[in-house]
Amino acid sequence: MKIVCFVFGSIGTNCYIVYNEKTKNAFCVDIADNASSAYFDFIDNEHINVKYMLLTHAHHDHVLSAKEFKAKYPQTKFVISKTDYENILNGKMHGVNSENFVEPDKLVDDNSLIKFEDKAIKVLATPGHTSGSVCYLFGDNLFCGDTVFKGSIGRTDLPTGSTSDIFKSINKIKQFNSLNLFPGHMEVTDLASEKKYNPYFNYEFNTK
Ligand SMILES: [Zn+2]
Repeated sequence: MKIVCFVFGSIGTNCYIVYNEKTKNAFCVDIADNASSAYFDFIDNEHINVKYMLLTHAHHDHVLSAKEFKAKYPQTKFVISKTDYENILNGKMHGVNSENFVEPDKLVDDNSLIKFEDKAIKVLATPGHTSGSVCYLFGDNLFCGDTVFKGSIGRTDLPTGSTSDIFKSINKIKQFNSLNLFPGHMEVTDLASEKKYNPYFNYEFNTK
């Protein structure tokens, strides 16, 4: 399995393509805004068949090229949390609405499973950055959106954000022994490094 990352859009979003080099089946994580032609060229030139577009949350810099993507690859199933889709429909996600977003194919929640080839991608609800933020676990790879960054965590001051919730979500991620972490922005990291160096992983917060 190969993981490639294209960085594009107005805030430099990490857009991952995870694919089986033999079968060319893939899932993608997040689709930014202003999708780059290099990204689409890669999918086309490698003859990649994107089964799913997994969205970590509904902020514009993670979803706004969804329509363009869906128009090019209508077979791809769009996956988003039920909560963040409701946030879009209720007008809580600035700049994203039912008109500039796609109709999702699958709404997920905590512990939802998405079948990919002979494996499963597991959904972890990790509210805090938005109320419907989720991470996607595939083997020991966690696609963590804007919940965790290398040395930091996502902001919680935007609509539906919650500082107490993001600390609960960080605690949930901390329970794993070992993970490769693929955040929505900036560098890739791993759980051991974040446990050691990320101040938010060592922060005593009253989460009761
Ligand atoms: Zn965000």
